[in-house]
Amino acid sequence: MSSHTLLKTYERNFPLDTKGLERIKDALEFARHIHKGQKRMSGDPYVDHVIATATTLAQWRLDSQSIVAGLLHDSIEDCAVSPDELSKRFGEDVSFLVEGVSRLGSLRYHDAQESVESLRKMMLAVSKDLRVIFIKLADRLHNMQTLSHLPQKKQKRIAQETIEIYAAIADRLGMQHIAGELRDLAFPYVHPGEYRWIRTNITEPYEEREAYLKKIEPIIREHLKKTGIEPFSIDYRAKRVYSLYKKLLRYDMNLENIYDLVAMRIIVETVDECYSALGIIHQLWPPMPGRIKDYIALPKPNGYQSLHTTVFCVNDRPTEFQIRTKAMHEFAEEGAAAHWFYELQKGRSSAPTLNRREVEWVKQLKDWQNQFPGSQEFIDALKVDFFSDRIFVLTPKGKVVDLPVGSTPIDFAYHIHTDVGNSCIGAKVNNKIVPFDYSLQSGDIVEILTQKNKKPSAEWVRLVHTKYAKKKIKSAIKKTTSLPKKTEYKLTCENRIGMMKDVSSVFSRSNIAIEHIHSTTHKNFVTLRLVANINDQEKAGRVLLKLKKLPGVREITSKSVIH
Ligand code: MN
Repeated sequence: MSSHTLLKTYERNFPLDTKGLERIKDALEFARHIHKGQKRMSGDPYVDHVIATATTLAQWRLDSQSIVAGLLHDSIEDCAVSPDELSKRFGEDVSFLVEGVSRLGSLRYHDAQESVESLRKMMLAVSKDLRVIFIKLADRLHNMQTLSHLPQKKQKRIAQETIEIYAAIADRLGMQHIAGELRDLAFPYVHPGEYRWIRTNITEPYEEREAYLKKIEPIIREHLKKTGIEPFSIDYRAKRVYSLYKKLLRYDMNLENIYDLVAMRIIVETVDECYSALGIIHQLWPPMPGRIKDYIALPKPNGYQSLHTTVFCVNDRPTEFQIRTKAMHEFAEEGAAAHWFYELQKGRSSAPTLNRREVEWVKQLKDWQNQFPGSQEFIDALKVDFFSDRIFVLTPKGKVVDLPVGSTPIDFAYHIHTDVGNSCIGAKVNNKIVPFDYSLQSGDIVEILTQKNKKPSAEWVRLVHTKYAKKKIKSAIKKTTSLPKKTEYKLTCENRIGMMKDVSSVFSRSNIAIEHIHSTTHKNFVTLRLVANINDQEKAGRVLLKLKKLPGVREITSKSVIH
């Protein structure tokens, strides 16, 4: 793959940044060097993959650090380049980003993941900087584009993970374009049958629909022009295959009912023009009740803004229109990545001013962040600090455990199960033994070493952070101290007069209280079960011998019990 598009795209985005361009060229050379001889499953040179990743990042208008990190994103994992070397050659920032991407790579998604939501949150928490997520998304995009070269079993898992985790994260960040693309790439691997069905059934209605909209376009253009609106673009793009599938599931798989199979998209300059255009369309064709949506006044949670309406268009055909400004359109497509670009521009002397939409966008992200408990403030440069008081760690099997910051391995153990906590004798984090007061970090893989019949120590109360673990430790300690062991005897003896008196006098002579006694009689024999207040094995043995010597006692056993 050529690096031409990458360099051209960067130059176009940042025409003045020759330094940045040089850094990218440097990184290109370095990437070619370290990946030399490595091949992808497709047989292509490995370096093509990192160039493709970096090119996507450039198309998202990200900064040179992100692009350099994109070129080097597999250098730690696949080429054993050390973070130190990266930071010496390309700076702290790049090294931090590459390390972040490598760390994300070690998080595994399992089919039966109990909490996909936790894994998504964890991805964000572990990243710490949204650019790490951007690189990971660009990486995943190329991996999905070349997924057909992987073994079938892997394909499905990766595709599933792409929908559940990466597309969902992109959605949250308002990056609809990449979210949609990832889902469409994954769909054929996850639901091959449904995919084929849609493919065969959609071609005709889609082409027919497109021809229809093509006829309508000049009518709209003409009426907009009369009001002085010169749209940036009017286009009609087919609904994405995966989102069409999701919608079809809700509409009995009946394509007739999907009005936005191909929607008309009108991009104008100002918000006022959006509303004017909506008015013009409603004057031309009557709107369908309940289908007018004002996402400008009330944006979607991910920041999406647009006006939607479905009208009975030419020949009374229900047709969806989407109207938005150019800025809204960019945010709809690129979301957080577009915001990043504007943030960068803002820092430059020739910066275009931050418009109202962008402020709205930041507000949306803030709202999103507020949905998670305890998060404080949104960091200016979109640093991921959504979960400032939570950490996300993993069991050796890859289950995500969500704990407060400051939690220790013992907190983790009690979180898994009370028995695991009580019988804990040590902990390994990322395969190394750690002390009990080790403060767990997001992304840590935690393994608890246990031993049967182990009891928690009172000292642990000071080593744990969660109230839950404290409570469990205290109750376990209480159990072992305030409820000492007792001894239960079972005797089989002759049913003779004075037997019971003889037995009880053995105890009273030794000043031992009998707590409980139960007898059953069978003809000439009686079985006695009694619990005595003895927690000392030696003493219990002495009593046993005395009982054994009583006339008429045939058999006797004893065991210690907790009562
Ligand atoms: Mn990669």
